[in-house]
Amino acid sequence: MNKNDKSLLLNPWIIATGSGILVILVMRLLDFFIGTKILQSFWNILKSLFLGIVDFFLLKFEVSLWFLIVLPLIVVGLIIFVLWIILTSKNNDVTPVINPRPLFLDYTEENFGGILYCWEYIKDFTDKYEIRNIAKYCPKCRCLIVDNKCPVCNTYLQHYVKSNQEIAALIKHRIDTRIMKQN
Ligand SMILES: [Zn+2]
Repeated sequence: MNKNDKSLLLNPWIIATGSGILVILVMRLLDFFIGTKILQSFWNILKSLFLGIVDFFLLKFEVSLWFLIVLPLIVVGLIIFVLWIILTSKNNDVTPVINPRPLFLDYTEENFGGILYCWEYIKDFTDKYEIRNIAKYCPKCRCLIVDNKCPVCNTYLQHYVKSNQEIAALIKHRIDTRIMKQN
């Protein structure tokens, strides 16, 4: 069997019509030998199925005018919605990660001159980070210092306490000189 014969036998049309003829032949043989009416009843089923489909598509409805007006609007709305989803999902795929999280955001505490300072970074309206909420803690017990005194250790620390401006300058200096990155 050469290649052409094989492709001819594998042709879907030939397979479909061939198997159809085979089924009819088998039913004919059954009708002949057993005396049933399989082919006839099969044909009746096919005929009623076809007529049913035709009847379904010829059905008539009474439809209100508002439905005829609202239906196209809904269809148009759905089309716009689907297009919008497709477009936005494509945009999401294309846009790269613009601003990765800066490393210095993990640098939020440091002992400056005998006092432990903790702070936060908050974005201002120009999307730049500002050092905010600088808090002073006792370096021994990590308790919040109140009125320059550790309430736990009962020691006064006013000689070591720096102003918030000084601390902010020290933090910026540490970030700029990348001391925190070497750790
Ligand atoms: Zn303390």
